[in-house]
Amino acid sequence: MLKKLICNHSIKHFEVVQKTAKNSDGDIVIEPLYADLHIHTVYSSDSLIQPKTLVDMLAAHSYIKVAAVTDHDSVRGCRATVELASAYPDVLIIPGVEITTTLGDIVVLGTTELPPKPWTPEAVVDFSKSVGAVSVVAHPFRLYGMGEAAGKYNVDAIEVLNGGSSAAANNEAKKFAKSLSLPGTAGSDAHQVSELFSVFNKIDADLNVGSVLKAIKKGFVLAQVATGSIHI
Ligand SMILES: [Zn+2]
Repeated sequence: MLKKLICNHSIKHFEVVQKTAKNSDGDIVIEPLYADLHIHTVYSSDSLIQPKTLVDMLAAHSYIKVAAVTDHDSVRGCRATVELASAYPDVLIIPGVEITTTLGDIVVLGTTELPPKPWTPEAVVDFSKSVGAVSVVAHPFRLYGMGEAAGKYNVDAIEVLNGGSSAAANNEAKKFAKSLSLPGTAGSDAHQVSELFSVFNKIDADLNVGSVLKAIKKGFVLAQVATGSIHI
């Protein structure tokens, strides 16, 4: 199926071919992947999203099949969602957590464990590297964001599109990521169902956690606003 994808950022428009196929190992591969990399479930006390609702929405969605569950300071939600999603071979949950560090929020993608306390930025970033996860500075220029102090830590990426941030705060984050030569990611930061998938990433990766994490670290990720950006 040929889809025309038009984004609002520096790359004006390009064609992508989305296909479902099996690789030599018999694994299902979808190219490219579309992912929302920052979602809260009810295991965050301030979210109304049930893991089952999220999985059902991914299963029903025509192109967003990947989501990172990043509850506040808890990995219970991502564990539950991974379990539920295992029934759907074309849906991938990236387990993760949004840690309230002493300086602001850091999302760790690719862990089902919490970092040891105290949650300083250094400790969280070090933990992330030690388990092969990806550390992302969440909404750096919003409330609970780390601001430019984030540049002092060896993080893997900056969240440049957050569904709950103003356009100005997202633009500042985009410039900040560029100044640090770090990949920029997108996450809806959804706390209710209507906020899911408001922004998303196009990721050049295979449909497994390791491949997605590797692609983000290498910068094979393009953050995009959902509204009006996809024309099928
Ligand atoms: Zn969040």
